[in-house]
Amino acid sequence: MPENTSMIQRLEQARSQGPGALAQACAALLASARGLGALAAARAVALDRELSGLIAALASAQELAICLDELARAARCLGCATCCRASSPTLYAEDQPRLAAAGLGREHMLTLRAGEKVYSARLGRLQTLGRELIKLREQAGACAWLGDGGCAIYDNRPLQCRWLECWSGRHAGQLDGRPRLGRELLLAADPIALALAREYDAKLPAAEIHQALADVAGGEESASAQALAFLELDHGLRTGISGRYGYSVEALFLILGRPALEVAANYGLELGLEGEAPVLRPKG
Ligand code: SF4
Repeated sequence: MPENTSMIQRLEQARSQGPGALAQACAALLASARGLGALAAARAVALDRELSGLIAALASAQELAICLDELARAARCLGCATCCRASSPTLYAEDQPRLAAAGLGREHMLTLRAGEKVYSARLGRLQTLGRELIKLREQAGACAWLGDGGCAIYDNRPLQCRWLECWSGRHAGQLDGRPRLGRELLLAADPIALALAREYDAKLPAAEIHQALADVAGGEESASAQALAFLELDHGLRTGISGRYGYSVEALFLILGRPALEVAANYGLELGLEGEAPVLRPKG
């Protein structure tokens, strides 16, 4: 980040308006220097003790510029949480002890099944999974473990979170040779859950559900009956399995994968009624 005249002027001007304006100016400058979103840059500024101290003390524009420059170039995670907001990590076999140490159980994970079409934040497009992936659960598209104070399981965060280096271009794809965590491993001590997972996969193949939903979303009315039948079967199986075996609704996100209705929402569809008949329609 060059300490150019306009930057110094901007910092001087913000400094005359107080710490709040100065923090905003620093965040804007860091955002453009490091390629961050506004929220992410504000978070990184607030988390950096040295810069926060200088802002609170209304240090000189030159001092602030030097500190900002170091921060923008730092070869380390700034805690901006951009990656945590993009999605949750997919898990590898070596994450298992970390998950246990963080107290995470099956209700904190979900399975993306082989054949599912999922959005890859890294590739920036949809991809069809050739094999299943296990992920930490998400909330509104972000990792569920991202809180106001940052990662709630930071000391035990998964391998992918440790590996990703947004500043260097080192990305999760470079981990591809390592063994993934799968249901066979996670549910090894629970043969009933594993058998239910296999049965569910046979009755509701992910690729067929996705195809039917994609067709409905694409306006093919003839696919609607098939898609609705999948949704009904999925609901019936989950309800029946919970009732008979006692697995929680949350645990079934891992054992069976995501409910078909949630997958439908990813295609912009929701369940509604026409008269008394259920229909899949675009989300209103
Ligand atoms: S586990 Fe922690 S570091 Fe990893 S994506 Fe979630 S909040 Fe971010």
